Amino acid sequence: MAEPTPRTPADELDSLRRTLRDFCDRELRPQARDRDRGEVYPTELIPQLAELGILGAGLPERLGGAGLAYDGYRVVVEEVGAADSSIRSLVSVNVGLVGKSIVAWGTDEQQERWVPGLCRGELGAFGLTEPAAGSNPQQMVTRAVQDADGWTIDGSKIFITNGSEGAVTMVFARAIVDGDDRGVTCFLVPQDSDGYTARKIHGKLGLRAGDTAEIALAGVRVERDAVLGEVGGGMKVALSALDNGRFSLSSGAVGLAREALEVSLRYAAEREQWGGAIASKQLVQELLAAIHVDVQAATGVLDLAEAKLHAGERATLEISTAKLFTTEASVRCADRAVQVHGGYGYVDEYPVQRLLRDARVTTLYEGTSQVQHLIIGRILTGISAF
Ligand SMILES: Cc1cc2nc3c(=O)[nH]c(=O)nc-3n(C[C@H](O)[C@H](O)[C@H](O)COP(=O)(O)OP(=O)(O)OC[C@H]3O[C@@H](n4cnc5c(N)ncnc54)[C@H](O)[C@@H]3O)c2cc1C
Repeated sequence: MAEPTPRTPADELDSLRRTLRDFCDRELRPQARDRDRGEVYPTELIPQLAELGILGAGLPERLGGAGLAYDGYRVVVEEVGAADSSIRSLVSVNVGLVGKSIVAWGTDEQQERWVPGLCRGELGAFGLTEPAAGSNPQQMVTRAVQDADGWTIDGSKIFITNGSEGAVTMVFARAIVDGDDRGVTCFLVPQDSDGYTARKIHGKLGLRAGDTAEIALAGVRVERDAVLGEVGGGMKVALSALDNGRFSLSSGAVGLAREALEVSLRYAAEREQWGGAIASKQLVQELLAAIHVDVQAATGVLDLAEAKLHAGERATLEISTAKLFTTEASVRCADRAVQVHGGYGYVDEYPVQRLLRDARVTTLYEGTSQVQHLIIGRILTGISAF
């Protein structure tokens, strides 16, 4: 059980939200369409994201982070997620999956070696998924063989966010010690290691500006102190990381759904048919109301997860519930937003088609919606149906 974390005063959260909104309006929204169209990685924005504390938002100040509590971190991710999900994904992985895991499981040396860099823009990646091990990571075949000086890692990973543009990857591999398989173990692997080769995956439906990489690991050498957590304790590290990652992802999904509502309200007020704004039509109002209800409900389930986290209590049930609901809601909201925009919603003059494409992956990664149902079902019944 973790220590309770005090909530951030409401006026500080408001001021944080305003700062983030200004930044997103000024720096992220204007070029989001072009980055999406051209699959352009936002290299030039990384220093600004670091400068504003976004890349270390939920990480401790002693390690260069902004030291925000869960509620403040949620505001940051929600605002970035409303503006550009490719960048939101980069932040969620860097902070939620990688930074928080190194803080939770790392030695003092590991924390000092990696976390300040993550906050400065030397990004982290989370390498769990393999070609033959997706929803069931226990099926992974990547191996790390121990010898007198350290470990040699061989295998491959797929769909790894920040996997080619980052500085470090949490590589999960089976630890082989004296010929025995000691189980899944997490290794901190510098991306410039000999034998680490990353190939960017192109042609994605959404998150087109994001770095999603396929990674080959061929005889990658790391020292003994590269193990994060315990040998054989990799699934514990992964599952705790995924709780943090899913909270972050849910915050981004709420931001995206809220954006769908805001742009739809604006468009419905401006667009005229039949001699008046389409906002005056009952069936358009039905679409807008349905988006609003989903945004409110998604905010509510995320509030429940946030409350548990602040209380320092185990929050896996609430986080999986939030992940399942907010991500499915974000897809529904973006789809309805396209409907409100009519034919104009189908082209990228308006942001709604990007919102729909970007929302779609959220029900797939960090555990599909089916996997979230199974986690929730297992906690409710005590029976695993995987
Ligand atoms: C853009 C993008 C970024 C990603 N980033 C990362 C990252 O940074 N790090 C990382 O490690 N991974 C990442 N992933 C991988 C992602 O987490 C996996 O794609 C996801 O976990 C699903 O695995 P899979 O694709 O192998 O699908 P599969 O596991 O093959 O699933 C296929 C279908 O079968 C269903 N299914 C599987 N098992 C069951 C079951 N027991 N009961 C019912 N249904 C089941 C699934 O729900 C799904 O509908 C990313 C993926 C994408 C697309």
